[in-house]
Amino acid sequence: MQLHSKLPHVGTTIFSVMSALANEVGAVNLSQGFPDFPADTEMIHLVTKAMQNGQNQYAPMPGLPALREIIAHKTERCYGYLPDWNTELTVVSGASEAIFNAIACTVSQGDEVIIFEPAYDLYLPVIELFGGKVVPISLQFPAYSVNWEEVKQKISEKTKLIIFNTPHNPSGAVWQQKDMLSLVELVKNTNIFLISDEVYEHIIFDKIAHESAIKYEEIRKRCFVISSFGKTYHTTGWKLGYCLAPAELTKEFRKIHQFNTFSTNTPMQYAMAEFVKQEDKYLSLPDFYQERRDKFKKMLQETPFELLDCKGTYFQLVSYKHLSNENESDYAIRLTKEVGVATIPVSVFYQKPTDNKVLRFCFAKQYQTLEAGIERILKNKEKLYK
Ligand code: GLN
Repeated sequence: MQLHSKLPHVGTTIFSVMSALANEVGAVNLSQGFPDFPADTEMIHLVTKAMQNGQNQYAPMPGLPALREIIAHKTERCYGYLPDWNTELTVVSGASEAIFNAIACTVSQGDEVIIFEPAYDLYLPVIELFGGKVVPISLQFPAYSVNWEEVKQKISEKTKLIIFNTPHNPSGAVWQQKDMLSLVELVKNTNIFLISDEVYEHIIFDKIAHESAIKYEEIRKRCFVISSFGKTYHTTGWKLGYCLAPAELTKEFRKIHQFNTFSTNTPMQYAMAEFVKQEDKYLSLPDFYQERRDKFKKMLQETPFELLDCKGTYFQLVSYKHLSNENESDYAIRLTKEVGVATIPVSVFYQKPTDNKVLRFCFAKQYQTLEAGIERILKNKEKLYK
């Protein structure tokens, strides 16, 4: 028997590949984006309490009302818009599920979907799975800014959806108000839907305000806005996120959600319904990660790498173009094996061959982990040149 692949060009995601290689060779893993410090003990206690209280059966399909209610208030607190938690919010099993559902309910055979590259690696295969045609637009290196004139040119009658992500993984770039206003101009009076991937909404630096899609009515009314508790609460393994969308879009979104996962795990929803009330936990996140970014930058400055700008997310890009001609994937693999530090080659996030000689480091790590990585780089400096 032979299964005809629906995704013949798709291999294993780079995050699994690099983490597995790091484990295999004992490298310091600064590749896959996940924190190596513990989650808040109070939050863990709340999950345990919910389990012990018998909250171990299916949650309501759209999410626990108390959790959706607190997310609605958090949304108003942060972005000045109070969504209807009953009709506009759905709790899902991670932002990944939300992105999948949102693409599934918008994209049909032959539809064009604009994405910005480098793009998070789940967008493209899911679009193709539903018969969509990806129209990639390269962000302008090295600032990873958008050429809005190009976006205008790439919009066609077939454009069904535009997916964007700010703060941006892997570049660390953030969209400013002028970007959002450019988007408003392009989509108003069209039937284009939007997905705004905002999983790093609270990881943004230097007092820059996060330009959530929620703040712009023209965007919000056609948009699936997606966030993840994994990033905000250092719990990527919990796979808990949510999607905010207008009622008509949410209705279609839930049709997919109910037959995809049906509902999301119950005790964690009970825990988060309590924990999200504590505003300081998410309001203090920019400072928490900015300190890490700054310290990691200082450490990296001692190495031969050149640093690119990082305005948000927990990723720092470095250029090695003055050190080696090797392509990014080979260089990242060699660094993992020979230097003992795992990173992510940014070229894997492009459809068109693009090799700027840039690597992504994840700095959501304890200082001792970051120091161990830098120490290895300094000790094996000569291996960086090849
Ligand atoms: N978002 C994380 C990253 O960019 C990884 C998520 C995953 O492993 N699927 O590294």
